[in-house]
Amino acid sequence: MEERITGVMVYYYFVCKRKLWYFANEINMEAENENVMLGKLLDENSYKRSEKHINIDNVINIDFVKEHRELHEVKKSKAIEEAGIWQVKYYLYYLKQRGVEGLKAKIDYPLLKKNVEVELTQEDEERLGKIVQEISELKKQAYPPDFKKKKICGKCAYHDLCFV
Ligand code: SF4
Repeated sequence: MEERITGVMVYYYFVCKRKLWYFANEINMEAENENVMLGKLLDENSYKRSEKHINIDNVINIDFVKEHRELHEVKKSKAIEEAGIWQVKYYLYYLKQRGVEGLKAKIDYPLLKKNVEVELTQEDEERLGKIVQEISELKKQAYPPDFKKKKICGKCAYHDLCFV
C-alpha cells in the first residue's frame, strides 16, 4: 500500500522536523491548541459561500475550490509563509501525479485580506519527490529529531513535550 504523506506533513517539514515526527507518529495535540482552534474557526467563517473541505484520498485537504479550477488554502498569518507555499505545491504535485493538471492555486490570508498565487515548476516537482522520501524515512525513526529551540516553539501544540 502506498504510504500516506499529507499536506500537513509537508507543511511541518518546513516548520520543524521534530513537530513533523510527532505528528507523523500520531502524537496529536493540535485539537487543544488555541492557535489551531483559531485557524479552524477562521476557516469555518471565511468564504462562506464557496465549496469547502475537499478531501482527496485522505492525503490532501483543500479548504475550498472556487470556480476556474482553483485550489485554495486558508492561513491566518504569513508567519511561516514558505511552509504554506510548499504545502500547496504538494497539493498540485499530488494531483498532477494522479492525472489532474492545469490547476491554479492560491493561499488566502483573510485576516490580512491578501492572497498569494502558487505554481508548481519542474524543479519543485523534483524537490517534492525528495521531500516525500525524507518524510517517509523520518516517520520511521524510533525517536524524534533533536530539540532545537525555535521562534515558533511558544505557539506550538507540542511545546509541553519539548520543554519538559
Ligand atoms: S515546541 Fe518547538 S521544537 Fe518542539 S515540536 Fe514544537 S516547534 Fe518543534
